[in-house]
Amino acid sequence: MQINETARRTYETAMADLRNFMANPWQTEMAPYQVIPHVYYVGNKYVGSYLLDTSEGLVLIDAALQETVYLLFESIRKVGFDPKDIKKVLISHGHVDHTGGLRIVQEYSGCEIWFPKGDAFFLTERRDLILEEEHAPEFEVTGYYNYDDMMDFGNIQIQPVHTPGHTPGCTSFFITVHNNRTTLLGMHGGLGLNGLSKAELLQNGLPASLQEDYLNSLKKLVNVPVDIVIPSHLSHFPGDYLGMIANNTDGSGDALRVPDAWKLLIEDRIAQAEALFKQDELIDEN
Ligand SMILES: [Zn+2]
Repeated sequence: MQINETARRTYETAMADLRNFMANPWQTEMAPYQVIPHVYYVGNKYVGSYLLDTSEGLVLIDAALQETVYLLFESIRKVGFDPKDIKKVLISHGHVDHTGGLRIVQEYSGCEIWFPKGDAFFLTERRDLILEEEHAPEFEVTGYYNYDDMMDFGNIQIQPVHTPGHTPGCTSFFITVHNNRTTLLGMHGGLGLNGLSKAELLQNGLPASLQEDYLNSLKKLVNVPVDIVIPSHLSHFPGDYLGMIANNTDGSGDALRVPDAWKLLIEDRIAQAEALFKQDELIDEN
């Protein structure tokens, strides 16, 4: 019982954080930075957004909260671009901290929105899993990822990979950037374990098999030869990512090229997930 309640508090803490950031968005303000040439962090302290300056125009990955869109736009302007020029937004998963800002971004720029098919139910019959309409207004989905296809933007290619677990449709991005040298950036779409205890899955009417999906999809990704990890939430990185960013003063990305960082990130999450799911087994046995 004790353990079950601990897991529930984790979920509730995550929701409390979210409510707090929606009520006080300025607390999430963070200076944008160039990851490597043509790739910029324009997210906030809480949740990541990445701007890609591609041959086909601006591509944004994740739109954060509706309440923080003004910070997103400011960050995009600070790194030298106009948010009106966003051509496409790619979404990692259906949760509101990645999608809440989409309506404003789409109305302002007229951008396309690409979404994981497996999370489309968040926008229809399970809107209760997202939050109220006032925080997550509807937007128009242009299309769903075809996981067999590389999305080619000329100087940048993005391979979406279906990595279910955190949500059924959770999608990770492997981004190949051709500058003087070619760099592979890796963003896991959803590493959060909040909501993944059996009790929480049951409570939210989601399949218990998401636990197995989470582990299986992580294990498939361990050996992807990622040069630079771009975390979906900066806090998920098992190390001093803010320190690494501070050292990336020239924007070359050299300070972010940590050998095995991707492997460490994924292995760290596998270990955390196995520990959480093990607790569920103990509860089952009782
Ligand atoms: Zn999420």
